[in-house]
Amino acid sequence: MENCIFCKIIAGEIPSQRVYEDSEVVIFKDIEPIARVHLLCVPREHFAHLSELNASREALLGRTLKKIADLAPSLGLEDGYRLIINQGENAGQTVHHLHIHILGGETLGWQ
Ligand code: AMP
Ligand code: ZN
Repeated sequence: MENCIFCKIIAGEIPSQRVYEDSEVVIFKDIEPIARVHLLCVPREHFAHLSELNASREALLGRTLKKIADLAPSLGLEDGYRLIINQGENAGQTVHHLHIHILGGETLGWQ
């Protein structure tokens, strides 16, 4: 997708600090962390919103959540973590390529 910063990160055109990648997702450090551990889990496939889910993307998302759970201890998230998916303007979504924020590494306040 042209002019999508996360597509460019996935393609390696923009540098990122990757902590995990496979054929379906890339996980890298958020450039402006709001917690001691702040990662972004991004599907390689470009789509912007949950409203664009179809059967294959639903399955992808399910596998992605399981992957995050399996990877958590190796990412410094053994004491728990929070997942956030911002959707649209009111949520402050700034990058329109679906991504899951993974927050942890400390006790998290609410908001
Ligand atoms: P959202 O507000 O949910 O769309 O989140 C977008 C996130 O992407 C923000 O937390 C940004 O700090 C992060 N971000 C933007 N550009 C980069 C980048 N080049 N590398 C890593 N994270 C980025
Ligand atoms: Zn994209």
